[in-house]
Amino acid sequence: MQAETESIVEVVRRHHELYKNALPMIASENITSNTVRILLSSDLSHRYAEGDVGNRFYQGCEYIDEIEEKAIRYAKELFEAEHVNVKPTSGVNANIAALFALTSPRDKMMALSIPDGGHISHSRYSIPAIRNLALDTFPYDAKEMNIDVTKMVKEIKLKKPSLILLGGSLFLFPHPVSEAREAADEVGARIVYDASHVLGLIAGKKFQDPLREGADVVASSTHKTFPGPQGAIILCKENVKEKIDRAVFPGTVSNHHLHHVAGLAVTLAEMMQFGEAYASQITTNAKVLAQGLYEEGFDVLCEHKGFTESHQIAIDVFNHGGGAAVAEKLERANIITNKNMLPSDKDPAEPTGIRLGVQELTRIGMNESEMREIASLIGRVVITKEDENKVREEVIELRKDFQHVQYCFDGKDMYKFPEKKMKKFL
Ligand SMILES: *Cc1c(COP(=O)(O)O)cnc(C)c1O
Repeated sequence: MQAETESIVEVVRRHHELYKNALPMIASENITSNTVRILLSSDLSHRYAEGDVGNRFYQGCEYIDEIEEKAIRYAKELFEAEHVNVKPTSGVNANIAALFALTSPRDKMMALSIPDGGHISHSRYSIPAIRNLALDTFPYDAKEMNIDVTKMVKEIKLKKPSLILLGGSLFLFPHPVSEAREAADEVGARIVYDASHVLGLIAGKKFQDPLREGADVVASSTHKTFPGPQGAIILCKENVKEKIDRAVFPGTVSNHHLHHVAGLAVTLAEMMQFGEAYASQITTNAKVLAQGLYEEGFDVLCEHKGFTESHQIAIDVFNHGGGAAVAEKLERANIITNKNMLPSDKDPAEPTGIRLGVQELTRIGMNESEMREIASLIGRVVITKEDENKVREEVIELRKDFQHVQYCFDGKDMYKFPEKKMKKFL
């Protein structure tokens, strides 16, 4: 069995080798600083701390209290939130807690459909089924790649949902939160904004500000544009805080992941210092990459409105064999992306699009010139159909100069397990 253990460690090493030499462009991923990576393997990962700061069900929580108190305080300051809960262990968990808090069975809710960009947890396969909610989807304008505002307002007034869920996974432009707020007030609806994809842009004041625009609750994962450990956070207004806290604990989380809370606190501090520069470079990079791909001949969505205002780019690759074939080709050149449904798609197995995100490339220090180079590399794989092995060699070469996490307080080689530092620390 020892050999088995060693072989797992070896496979993880190979995984690191792959990612060290690749362009990771999955829009839902990111990397943490080395400090956070060390904290994730600390003793905190072994402990229980059910309850709240200063009021736990277990002894031994003196330092855990200090860490969680800091995470909450930093998040309140960074997002100017009235109340914060750092316990949900994933984005779906945060959504479940938020909807558990604010709805009763058989209530009506409204969210985006999956092809229009909604997350699977917003769909009839997930939370609406768990909570037995009647689900309606937003009217969508595929040309503008956003919710159709006029029709949305009409639908809210007509259908009178008690819960409006904004935000999504294919998320190029800010959602109409303030318009939804006005209609919601007329029918007495609550608004939850799922910021999973864009939390890092919100932290850097580069997208929209859902709490100021009228959301009652922001539920979000903490590892997409927000470059923290996998986990989640809920920000909310004072008047729903008891409901939210009870829906998290004891409702949907027993023990939260304390090592993740420590990592989250550090990432919040990183974003307080570097968030604006980081988010600003992400949105610049996304636009430059989109323009470059458009010039290569790709059908990049929404050229008429500057392609994107987030970290994402959506491309219709139907004419190049569809999303699956293109994503597999790019993988052979060490360019890691995913196939993605576009609004016109019916079959989730055969999406016509691919979705690209530039947040991780930005986190390792890539700027406009690298975006232009990457557009050309993608064009050579998909459009001029060059040998993927040859392009892969150039990807590896490009990646050589980008091996350190930026916008944080450390700068060590991120794929080397920091053993020395670990020993000193533990
Ligand atoms: C990724 C995502 C989630 C789920 O987050 P997990 O941490 O993977 O559970 C929820 N909502 C949206 C909009 C997402 O994109």
